[in-house]
Amino acid sequence: MLRIAIQKSGRLSEESLNLIRECGISFVNSSLKLKTECTNFPLEILFLRDDDIPGYVADGVADIGIVGQNVLVEEGKEELTVEKLGFSKCRLSLAVPKSDEYTSIHDLNGKNIATSYPNLLKAFLDAQGVQAQIHTISGSVEIAPSIGLAEAICDIVSSGSTLISNGLKEVERVFKSEAVLIASPELSPEKRGVLEKLLFRIQAVQRARKAKYILLNSPDDKIEEISRLLPSIKAPTVLPLAEEGWSSLHSVVNEDDFWEIIEKIKAAGAQGILVVPIEKMII
Ligand code: ATP
Ligand code: ZN
Repeated sequence: MLRIAIQKSGRLSEESLNLIRECGISFVNSSLKLKTECTNFPLEILFLRDDDIPGYVADGVADIGIVGQNVLVEEGKEELTVEKLGFSKCRLSLAVPKSDEYTSIHDLNGKNIATSYPNLLKAFLDAQGVQAQIHTISGSVEIAPSIGLAEAICDIVSSGSTLISNGLKEVERVFKSEAVLIASPELSPEKRGVLEKLLFRIQAVQRARKAKYILLNSPDDKIEEISRLLPSIKAPTVLPLAEEGWSSLHSVVNEDDFWEIIEKIKAAGAQGILVVPIEKMII
């Protein structure tokens, strides 16, 4: 039985649980419970505060966990990382009051900066040769300038709307973060085996999230040209249509290149293009 620690309630919780479900693992979830055992996979889920997850995994209380890189690196436990998970993307940024003039990072020399991430901030400032007083506070960092606690803040940003509503502007990006899977370095062979099975499923789910299955009709004399434009795992599938001179081409495209490819194959003569999601992808 492998124990995974995930955030009890917060910005990582839902996507962490979704990922486990998409791996085909079932469990009964009650927000009141501290842990739950999965019914069809040797996994037990512990629900914890995100800040506690790296420590519990490092100490072996939990075997693996899902946490933001911001918390992991702040706590100096980056080496526990096993896999990036691609969700809960955010950044740690420096912000100052909107009306302040800001030309460069050196404007922060000698200033007071409030943050919940003193280690990440210090590493960034040191690398830039800036000396500032770091005030560590645990929450509501964005109000620090308006109550006179600090001249600048360093906090998590995703859309930036919280900064704007507090009269602040983002001036420097300190750290980029996403959710990661972490694991204790000292797992028994049995637990390592379960982790490997889980990782295999996670990777299949991750690949599928980025990929789309594409089907299109092509005049037979354009198959070659269109095939060249379509990336695929091996080569595109070509099936004859009931109509003479036409074929159906099937392939897999990456979400990032998707629109560009569609434009090109359309220009090359593709018709009836269908794009469908992929649930799992094993290569
Ligand atoms: P806890 O009570 O568990 O300590 P918390 O208040 O510290 O929760 P949350 O605000 O739920 O934490 O954020 C958890 C993690 O989600 C952060 O550490 C970060 O990695 C990520 N995150 C934070 N804000 C955002 C955001 N706006 N968009 C996407 N991800 C975010
Ligand atoms: Zn937290």
